[in-house]
Amino acid sequence: MITHKDLKHLQRCVELARIAVEKGDQPFGSVLVSKEGKVLVEDHNHISGGDHTRHPEFALARWAAENMSLEERGKATVYTSGEHCPMCAAAHGLVGLGRIVYASSSKQLVTWLEEMGVPKSRVRSLPIQEVIRDTVVEGPAPEFSREIRELHRRFHEEKS
Ligand SMILES: [Zn+2]
Repeated sequence: MITHKDLKHLQRCVELARIAVEKGDQPFGSVLVSKEGKVLVEDHNHISGGDHTRHPEFALARWAAENMSLEERGKATVYTSGEHCPMCAAAHGLVGLGRIVYASSSKQLVTWLEEMGVPKSRVRSLPIQEVIRDTVVEGPAPEFSREIRELHRRFHEEKS
């Protein structure tokens, strides 16, 4: 279940996605929260430099591997504006992070980009559960859909 506290963290993820789009990066933002509810680290997409692996969920997984014990990682939650891509889902699983809460799903994103006429990504879109076993995954939170769709529209409009 997505709680009121979860929604607050998701709101921050959407803010980070907005910051990203303002810098010319794709609108994605993520926050890593400890078992105690403390925000440990946050990041947004950084692909405008040309490295298309610079996703925030991947950065958080690396941060967790360097800074947290395996036990702490397993009890932490990753909040994200858009569901993990397969690369980030794999990284999340490999470093042993816990619950994932996302504001919008990969399925929603695929639909939105199709509607906008954006060419399909070379990497297939897969639900997180098809990449990682045994992880609690919650989302989407429909209250953010409109805003996130608009950020993607803005990103693709500014690019073209
Ligand atoms: Zn990713």
